[in-house]
Amino acid sequence: HFSKKYKPALRFYDETMSASFRYRFDLEQGLRKALIDSELQVYYQPFYAPGSGELVGAEALVRWPDKTGFVSPADFIPVAESTGQIRALGALVLKRACCDTRLLSEQLGKKLVIAVNVSPVQFASNDIIADLQEAINISGIDATQVVLEITEGVFIGQIAGAARLLEEVVAMGVRLSMDDFGQGYSSLSYLRMHPFSFLKIDKLFIQGMVQSPQDYALVQASVAMAQALQLGIVAEGVETREQLEMLESLSVDYAQGFYLARPMAFDEYQKVANIKHV
Ligand code: C2E
Ligand code: MG
Ligand code: MG
Ligand code: MG
Repeated sequence: HFSKKYKPALRFYDETMSASFRYRFDLEQGLRKALIDSELQVYYQPFYAPGSGELVGAEALVRWPDKTGFVSPADFIPVAESTGQIRALGALVLKRACCDTRLLSEQLGKKLVIAVNVSPVQFASNDIIADLQEAINISGIDATQVVLEITEGVFIGQIAGAARLLEEVVAMGVRLSMDDFGQGYSSLSYLRMHPFSFLKIDKLFIQGMVQSPQDYALVQASVAMAQALQLGIVAEGVETREQLEMLESLSVDYAQGFYLARPMAFDEYQKVANIKHV
């Protein structure tokens, strides 16, 4: 007869579990094909200086087209992280984003910034340095135009060596931005310990700030802190004019969100790059 200890193993095969494993398996296989067949695209979401309405640059966001639209990065990035596919994906996004930004900067006669999301998992190995250097070399972009957006996940889970890699990145002239600021527990102590240049306030607070005095206070305090630490401050997820005006009055350096511009393909980014947002 079955002893008690076999019960957990039987639960393994319940329907919802196998459906979710199946889903991950399909994503992994699909991603492998997407990487080989160059199906992944890079979209750009511009960010602006609120006062002048001037385009400053864009954030690169990976896109994986499927039959109905796009597979959400929130679904496949975690899979890529757990299979190791994130390295190839990350290197590809870095290269594409730097090359496109170099081209557009030449066309505009103005050095645009390109912010690239980098997974904490990429900081588990030295490869990130070589991949970054290669993207910079191939594109001919200035390292100072490149910003890496990282979340506090970089520091969680004992990723030894991450701190040293961050120092190396900064020594190259590349800048660091703390993404989704306010979402985690420990961002403050990480800001203190590591060489960040920008702080990107999470869209949750930006979206709440007009209605919620608490959210407003948190945004205001984040701005004051960033100024005291001489960090640039970016607001993500700006969806309304009221939010934008509020951010302008708080002297936020850069604003990004659907109200200003959606993530778009490179040819569209080229078209809007000349337009100020006022
Ligand atoms: P994130 O870096 O915080 O990027 C912001 C996300 O918010 C993007 O979703 C963007 O499309 C969305 N967004 C922008 N403006 C607004 C707005 O006004 N309102 C709302 N509701 N959403 C807005 P997306 O493209 O689905 O990316 C989700 C996350 O996936 C990113 O969050 C980032 O963590 C990750 N990701 C995306 N591309 C890459 C990549 O190339 N590499 C890595 N490692 N992660 C990526
Ligand atoms: Mg980001
Ligand atoms: Mg973010
Ligand atoms: Mg996010």
